[in-house]
Amino acid sequence: MGENATVMKVPLLDLQSEYAEQRDEILPALDRVCRNASFVQGEEVEAFEREFADFCGVKHCVALSSGTAALHLGLLALGVQSGDDVITTPNSFLATAEAITYCGARPVFVDTDPATANLDPRLIERSITPRTRAILPVHLYGRPADMDPIREIAARRHLRILEDAAQAHAARYRSQRVGSFGLAAAFSFYPTKNLGAYGEGGALTTNDDAIAKFARAARSHGQTARYDHEFPGYNYRMQGFQGAVLRIKLRRLHAWTQKRREIAKEYRRLLEGARLEMPDDDPRDECVYHQFVIYVNNRNSVIAQLAARSIDTAVHYPKPIHLQPAYSSLGYPAGTFPNAERACERVLSLPLFPGMTAEQISYVAASVVDVVGRK
Ligand SMILES: *Cc1c(COP(=O)(O)O)cnc(C)c1O
Repeated sequence: MGENATVMKVPLLDLQSEYAEQRDEILPALDRVCRNASFVQGEEVEAFEREFADFCGVKHCVALSSGTAALHLGLLALGVQSGDDVITTPNSFLATAEAITYCGARPVFVDTDPATANLDPRLIERSITPRTRAILPVHLYGRPADMDPIREIAARRHLRILEDAAQAHAARYRSQRVGSFGLAAAFSFYPTKNLGAYGEGGALTTNDDAIAKFARAARSHGQTARYDHEFPGYNYRMQGFQGAVLRIKLRRLHAWTQKRREIAKEYRRLLEGARLEMPDDDPRDECVYHQFVIYVNNRNSVIAQLAARSIDTAVHYPKPIHLQPAYSSLGYPAGTFPNAERACERVLSLPLFPGMTAEQISYVAASVVDVVGRK
């Protein structure tokens, strides 16, 4: 890039522009919630539950206050309790492990596959003990975890599966939407997720009637009818505003997902031959690119040089969960999960959002190639 090359500002994502495009639909929907005074749950949330269940191809969707709440209720619904172990990946957001802790159970980490950044199914069996109750795979960055072998192991060893689909709305594994592979799946609608609310939100999806029934009661103080409290539950209800916003945005999710996949394809084409690595895309699956990540050496220098070109980047995640102070008591020293640790040292998320222009994509890709060099 010469001295006079154009500099373009490229944010990691652009929620303001997205709002500007949808304002005429969103404001009347929020007004409807206010006029009905259905601030907590209510008709918009119920309609969203039906629409999102249809979208995922599952029988039930239980709307909740966050993805973390969905993971927590999902694990409780699977019967996870004090004294149990739950197998999961150390390369995720902390909430994945926290939900296990909430149940009084212990996270047992298994290293990731460097090709996908997801739980490596070949390493699961050696970590199963008589205490193991469940497996919690994460579809990291929107790339489906390898569910066939995970399901085969779970069936043979009598373990239950909860999917962490917080980053993977609309993703497909072997042509089937994620959210329907385990006994249940947890989604997040945090504003920056592929389907984001205007505040906190989450959902549990399942084909199991008893799990749905449990989650519906548990999210509202264990109530099965007004003031009939079957058990001490939680306040994990979704707000009416979030249901209204999510219904509008769900109608665009398919088009937005296509856009994300096209941008990723273009990045891959433009970054070919650069001195970096990218996770593999299995052509049988549909990754929904919650993040477009690359692996680079000297990450801090790459971040600084891209920032100097007005390109925002982020790191998902700088430290695997087992090396976080929050989980030091589990006693996993550095070096225990070399693939996850190496990924966290080298990973870098590039800007990717449905409204990105062709100029922004080529500017980011050209800048990255310029900074890291060619192979
Ligand atoms: C965002 C996220 C969560 C937590 O969802 P919240 O809605 O923020 O509570 C859990 N797991 C993963 C992988 C996430 O990305």
